[in-house]
Amino acid sequence: MIVEMKKRAPQEELTGVVDRAKSLGFEVQLNVGTDKTVVAILGSATGKTPIDIFAVLPGVESVTRIMKPYKLASREFKSENTKIFVGGVEIGGERIVAIAGPCAVESEEQLMQAALGVKKAGAAILRGGAFKPRTSPFSFQGLKKAGLELLRSTSRKCGMPVVTEIVDTADVELFSEYVDIIQIGSRNMQNYSLLTAVGKTNRPVVLKRGFSCTVTEWLTAADYILAEGNPNVILCERGIRTFEDSTRFSLDISSVPVIKKFSHLPIIVDPSHAAGHYSLVPSLAKGAVAAGADGLMIEVHPNPREALVDGLQSLTLSDFSRLMLELGPIASAVGRKV
Ligand code: PEP
Ligand code: MN
Repeated sequence: MIVEMKKRAPQEELTGVVDRAKSLGFEVQLNVGTDKTVVAILGSATGKTPIDIFAVLPGVESVTRIMKPYKLASREFKSENTKIFVGGVEIGGERIVAIAGPCAVESEEQLMQAALGVKKAGAAILRGGAFKPRTSPFSFQGLKKAGLELLRSTSRKCGMPVVTEIVDTADVELFSEYVDIIQIGSRNMQNYSLLTAVGKTNRPVVLKRGFSCTVTEWLTAADYILAEGNPNVILCERGIRTFEDSTRFSLDISSVPVIKKFSHLPIIVDPSHAAGHYSLVPSLAKGAVAAGADGLMIEVHPNPREALVDGLQSLTLSDFSRLMLELGPIASAVGRKV
């Protein structure tokens, strides 16, 4: 249930609403806007609670039920777009943020070459996996803690914030110490204990879409993070599984405007994992920008042929630089910048 307070309603009226909700056993989250506050009243029994219980309280402008399963990620709770600031970079603003780097951190030299190259081409954030969730247990699983150390030192040397994927709740403290943005991978989108654990940190979270999940399930997963008090969730569309097998996954470009319609959270697109092949990545990236994405996450390797993971879908540094230039006119056509 969403209680919208009157413009400039005094604090005691807001407290009255919060206390009433708590007395009924509900949880409460506030969206404090510039001139009015919205109160989300959360709990499994809200559906059975009459709206009038809140509508009669002083300072209340309106009360509405959110019929969708996600609440905190919804536009009903927060009408203005969420902007996230990390290491001097704004996500969800006018500029489309490019996040780039290798699939996996392999060595100090590989990561440094990738970081310097993508930064020169205009990327704002460095990516690189230290813990890799691989389909086979016999595939390279990442450098783990040593990978996090390389990410941190490279990010500091290059002056770029870094994003990397977490796969285990036991590593949350380690990640909070080493990385700027924590990524929840597609395979873990519905790992609710992991979502809750990252929700307790103060690090922004990239939440990738599960490749068999609907937009509604994805936004409801985001609620797990938001419910813990971490407001900084960045959604990432990375393709879903369909009957089509000419690409690794089918990039659901329509999820971008759908998310923009129903949620205030920023959305970025990963064309690399959707495409599965480097030759398709630029077109998908351009489509994502045209559709209104707030950013791109692209796999770039200084030498894709030698990559330990996902070499086939990785761009070379020169391909990435070209793509960044080509994105400029598309971004300006939709009122954005790269
Ligand atoms: C990744 O970004 O490295 C990754 C494994 O992606 P996904 O979770 O989308 O498969
Ligand atoms: Mn990859």
